[in-house]
Amino acid sequence: MVEPLIQVEALWKVYPAGDVSALRGISFSVVQRGFIALVGPSGSGKSTLMHLLGCLDQPTQGSYRLEGVEVGKLLPNALARIRNSKIGFVFQGFNLLARTTALENVELPMLYGGRSGRERTQRAKEALERVGLGDRLKHYPNQLSGGQQQRVAIARALVMRPPVILADEPTGNLDTYTSVEIMSLFQTLNAEGSTVLLVTHEPDIARYASRIISLRDGLIQSDQPVGDPKGA
Ligand code: ADP
Repeated sequence: MVEPLIQVEALWKVYPAGDVSALRGISFSVVQRGFIALVGPSGSGKSTLMHLLGCLDQPTQGSYRLEGVEVGKLLPNALARIRNSKIGFVFQGFNLLARTTALENVELPMLYGGRSGRERTQRAKEALERVGLGDRLKHYPNQLSGGQQQRVAIARALVMRPPVILADEPTGNLDTYTSVEIMSLFQTLNAEGSTVLLVTHEPDIARYASRIISLRDGLIQSDQPVGDPKGA
C-alpha cells in the first residue's frame, strides 16, 4: 500500500492557557496530489490544525506523520528543518518584503540552503514564470496588484519544491474575480503534482478543492469529496 503523504491519528491540542482543547482527537490522511479545503466556524480549530500540519507547533497527544516520518514529537531544530524543506506557506496578507523585488522575495527561502546566487535566481525566475509573472521579476510589491502579490507569495512557497503547500485564507484579501484566478492557479499546481491544503471560511472557495474537511469544536464534522469542483 502506498503510504499517505500526511497521516494524522487521534491528534489532540490542548492549550494550557485557559485549558482549551482546540483539537480533540482528529484523524485523517491525505494522499499525494490531494487538494483539501479545511472549513469550519471561528474557533473550530482550523488555525491550530494548520499550525500542527505546518510544523509550527506540536500536538499534545497523537501522531502526525509526514512522508512516513513521525514529526509530532521532533525537537524544535529538527521540526524547523522539516518545515523548511517540506512545507510551502501562503498567507492571507501575502507577507512579502516591501522594499524587495518579486524575484528577491522568491529567492528568500533559498538563502539558507547553500545554493549559489545564480541557481537561486534561476529557480526563483522559474517559480515566477510558473505563476504567470515572468514579466514582473523586478517589480516591487507596491507596483503589483493584490492578486499578483499573492502569486509572488505562491511562487515563494513553491521555490523549495515542497511536497505540501499550506494556505491560510489565501483569497481573504482579494476580490471575487481575483480569488477565482488564485484558486484556478492552485488547481493547476495541484494538477501538476502539488498537494494543497487551504483554510477558508468561504464555501464558494472551498468548492475549488477536491475534498472538504469540516471542523467543529475541535472534531471533524464531515470529510467529503467534492463531486464536481468549481472551475476544474
Ligand atoms: P479557528 O482557526 O477555527 O478559528 P483556532 O484553532 O484559532 O480556531 O482556535 C480553536 C480554539 O483554541 C479556540 O477556542 C481558541 O480560543 C483556542 N486557542 C487558539 N489558540 C490559542 C492559544 N494560543 N492559547 C489558548 N487558546 C487558544
